Amino acid sequence: MDIALIGIGKIAIDQHVPAIAASSDFSLAATVSRHGYVEGVESFPNIHALLKARDDIRVISLCLPPVPRFEAAAAAIRAGRHVMLEKPPGATLAECYALMSLANKHKVSLFATWHSREADKVASAKAWLANKELRSLKVTWKEDVRRWHPGQDWIWEPGGMGVFDPGINALSIVTEILPDNIHLTSANLEVPVNRQTPIAAQLEFFHPGGAEVSADFDFRQEGEQIWNIEAVTDEGTLTLIDGGARIRIDGAEDALEDDNPLSGEYPRLYAKMASLLLRGGIDMDLRPMIHVCDALALGRRTTVDPFIE
Ligand code: NAP
Repeated sequence: MDIALIGIGKIAIDQHVPAIAASSDFSLAATVSRHGYVEGVESFPNIHALLKARDDIRVISLCLPPVPRFEAAAAAIRAGRHVMLEKPPGATLAECYALMSLANKHKVSLFATWHSREADKVASAKAWLANKELRSLKVTWKEDVRRWHPGQDWIWEPGGMGVFDPGINALSIVTEILPDNIHLTSANLEVPVNRQTPIAAQLEFFHPGGAEVSADFDFRQEGEQIWNIEAVTDEGTLTLIDGGARIRIDGAEDALEDDNPLSGEYPRLYAKMASLLLRGGIDMDLRPMIHVCDALALGRRTTVDPFIE
C-alpha cells in the first residue's frame, strides 16, 4: 500500500522513513512538510494539497506535534483515508474522541500508536506480571531534553506536554503491562518560570490491590539517561530497563525470552497498522493520555528555574 508521511521532523526521519522502507506492507509515496523532505519522494506543502492531488494514497501517517495534529487527522479522515497517529494521539482527550467518532462515521481505520509498547521486552513483562500480586511499581524516566528534543519549542507551549512527552511513553508501558487499571491520585509539576509545560513531574496512583504506584519524570537529566520501570511482586522483582529494551528478574538480565519475530518499535507499529487495515476498525487506547490529562488537572505546580536551551 502507498502511504504518505505528514510532518517531516525528527521522528519521521529517525524512525518512520526507515521503518516504511523496510516494510513489506507499505511504500512511501508522498510527504507533507513546510521544511523537510525525503529524497526522491513527492512532497506537498500542506495536507489539503496532498489529499486533493493523490486520491490513490489511502493511508496517512501523522508525525506532527500534538497541537496541529487534530486538524490534519480530521481532514484525512473526512477524505476517506486511514490514519496512523504518532503519540500522544491528540492535544486533548475530546479531540481523540472526536477523531474516533469521525473515523466511525467515515468507515476508516484509525490507529493511535504507542511506540514504547513495542519495545522488545514489554510483552514478556506483561506476561510475567499477569499472575503475580503487585506490591509496588516505580517509574523513573529521566532524560536530557537538550539532547533528545533540540529546538522543539512546541514541547514548551500549551499542548506540548513538556516532560510528559516522554513520560507518556512510560505510562503507555505501565498501562500495557499491569493487569489492573490504576488512576492518578496526586501530582507535583515543576514548571520553569519562562515556560508553559512541566520540566519535571512526580506522580502517585491508586492501585486496586493497594500497591504503591509512582512515577518520577525529569527532563534535566545529564549523564546517564534513565528509562526504567521496577515492579515488586509477591514472587520477585521485575525491572524494565532502557525504555523496555531490556528486562531483569530479581537482578538476572534477560531472564525472559521475546518471541516477536519483527525487531524494532516502528517496524512493529507499521505491521500492526497493516493488520488493522485488513480487519478494519479503530485501535485507540487512551489510558496513557488520561493519566497525563489527570496530572495536568490535579497537579500542584511549583515554579522552578527558567529553561534556556
Ligand atoms: P519535530 O522534530 O519538531 O517535528 C515535527 C514536524 O512537524 C516538524 O518538522 C514540522 O515540519 C511539522 N509541523 C507542522 N506543523 C507544526 C507546528 N505547528 N509546530 C511544529 N511543527 C509542525 O518533532 P518530533 O520529535 O518529530 O515529534 C513529532 C511527534 O512525534 C510528537 O508527537 C512526539 O511526541 C512524537 N515522537 C517523537 C520522538 C522523538 O524522539 N523525537 C519519539 C517518538 C515520538 P515542517 O515545519 O517542515 O512543516
